[in-house]
Order: sequence, then structure tokens, then C-alpha cells
Amino acid sequence: MPDRGGEGFTPHDHAASAALSGARILLGDRDEGTAARIAETLRSHGASHVHCVGSVADFLSAGAVPPAPVRLWDVAVWDTGISGDDASLTALLDQWRTGVPGAPVVVSDEAPSTRRAMAALRGRAADMVERGDPDGLVAAVARVLENRADPLRVEGARQAGPRMLVVGAHPDDVEIGAGGIIHRRAHGGWGITILTLSGGANGGDPDRRREEAHRAAEVLGAHLIMENLPDGSISDDSATVRTIERAVAEVDPDVVLVHSESDTHQDHRAVHRATLVASRQVARLACYQSPSATVAYQPNRFVELSEADLEAKLSAIGAHNSQAASRWYLEEELLRSTARYWGRFSRTRYAEPLELVHDNTPLGYYPADHA
Ligand SMILES: [Zn+2]
Repeated sequence: MPDRGGEGFTPHDHAASAALSGARILLGDRDEGTAARIAETLRSHGASHVHCVGSVADFLSAGAVPPAPVRLWDVAVWDTGISGDDASLTALLDQWRTGVPGAPVVVSDEAPSTRRAMAALRGRAADMVERGDPDGLVAAVARVLENRADPLRVEGARQAGPRMLVVGAHPDDVEIGAGGIIHRRAHGGWGITILTLSGGANGGDPDRRREEAHRAAEVLGAHLIMENLPDGSISDDSATVRTIERAVAEVDPDVVLVHSESDTHQDHRAVHRATLVASRQVARLACYQSPSATVAYQPNRFVELSEADLEAKLSAIGAHNSQAASRWYLEEELLRSTARYWGRFSRTRYAEPLELVHDNTPLGYYPADHA
């Protein structure tokens, strides 16, 4: 994942515009003349259809009723000058996402500020650009469309159906703690994204570890986002929170899994705390068991694993072969017997435990299958 700017959105790449070819764009702008000029710019970069609206009501109804029976909008652009304050912007984006799932919104703002960017992020906008910068808008729209065309993202990050984001401090943390759950849910139709916050430089060559992490995610059927926070000194400050918030905004998960607070590793505890903040609007959050979890780890959910889930977990962990020789907790016998042990709580042969921290879903409601 490319590094992004301080306000939580990608810096502009003015070169990319081929991705606009054939795109259907819904454009909200307060001013007809400005809208016409932006529309012209988008068309000159290949957009096949640009529909302009000037009010919240027209924007939402254009989203609900596509103008042609082909497909919904590929992307929408929203001028914050129409929606007003930060809270209204977030509310509008929430409403749009509910009515038009899967159509990302690029927010255009007269003078982008951090507060406005946070409001856009809370509404899960795809990007924010300066209203007076048509090149920046074209680049942002192109990037959004390119991301949608990326099969990994379509499968992993934004797939229809339930989505899970699994956050870990280092490569292999997530596989050890929740590899079986990830495999099980991925094969049950869930979109799973793994967010690994550091390259694990303390455990070996970062390039090799990155390759291993990608192979492991592939084995489990998950999409991987790798960030570059400092291994060994990850903090729970706002920079870490923002990094996780970006993944939450991108994935829009139904469930987030992360390290437990009851853990002897300082990075794991920091990631736990930062994830709690970044996931405050996600319906459910639960903690997996890391090898450094303490006896205070108190699981209250047990997810059944099939033999195939456990095998996939072991293969994914095996993909981190730069670690295999030096880490006691990667021994297959231990991993297998741990899954066997937790199985006693779910009356199945194998299980992985979870410590449920919060669950906002109505009692008895679980999308497809609960985690
Ligand atoms: Zn770790």
C-alpha cells in the first residue's frame, strides 16, 4: 500500500488518467458552471458519462436510480460546499454508501483541512481533493477506478458480503492467531484483509519477510496490506491510529480481529489499543491469541476449524520460513495441539479462540456466519 499524506488520503499522481476510460461518474457540485468545466475535464480524460447534480436530494436519488440499465456509477464526486458542516458530510457519505454500495466517493473541498479529511474518512470516502484542482480530481478518480479494477482488492477488500479486517503488528502474527478463522471465513465467502503494520525488520530481511507475508495471505485466501511502522517500537499514537483507520475505511469491515491487551509484547499491546480507537465504528471487535499472550487472555468465542482450515493455517505459517528455525512457537506440534485444546470449548476437534471486546450487532443477528 502506498504511503499516504498526513490527512489520511493518497497524494496526487497527476500522471494517471487512462483508468477513466469508459467510466460513469456522478458529479455533485454547488455551481453549474464549475460542474460543467469539471465534467468536461473528466470527459476529456475518457469518462463516457458524467451526470451533474447540485443538491443532496438529487445526488442520492441519482445514486438510487441509475440513468441507464447497464451499471451503477463507477465513482461519485461530492462537493462539500453542498453538504455543509463536517457532520453533514459524514452523514451524507453514510447515506450514499447504504443506498449505493460499492460506488466510491471522492470528496472535493474548497480548502481541505485535517478536520474535513477526518469527516470524509469517517464517511469512508475514497479520497479528498481540492475543488479548484481539476488535475488532482482526475488523478484521484483514476486511482479509485484503478483500485476497483485490481482483482485482489475486489476479492479481498471490497467484496460484497461480510468483510473482516485482521490486524497484526508483525508478519506471521495474524496467521498464528487467526489463520484458521481467516481460511474458514474466506472459503465461506467472506472478504478478508490482513493489515500487517510493520515489515518485521527485527526478525530478518524485510524484503524476504514481505514476500513470505504475501504468500501466507494467498494460502489463506486473504488480501494483504503491509505498512511500515517501526518493528519493536510501534506506538499507540495518532499516527498508528490513522494508519489503521485508512485500512478500516478501505475495507469497511463487519468484524475486526487484533492482538489482545493481555500480551507481553509492547508492539502487540500498542496495536491492540490503536485498533480499538480506529475500529470504534465497526460492529464487532475481537482479539486473537498471540504466542506472547499472557494467562489473562480470556477468550469467550471459539471458532470451529476443520482439518483443512488447520492445514491451511500450518501452510500459511510455514510460508514464513525465514522464522521457522528460530521461533519455538512455530512448531507444528504446538500449533496443532493448541487448536486441539481450544476445541474442547466448542465441542469440536479444533478451534481458535477469540476474546470479544465489543459487539454492536442486534442480539441474534449475524451476517451469514459469526466470527
Ligand atoms: Zn508479533
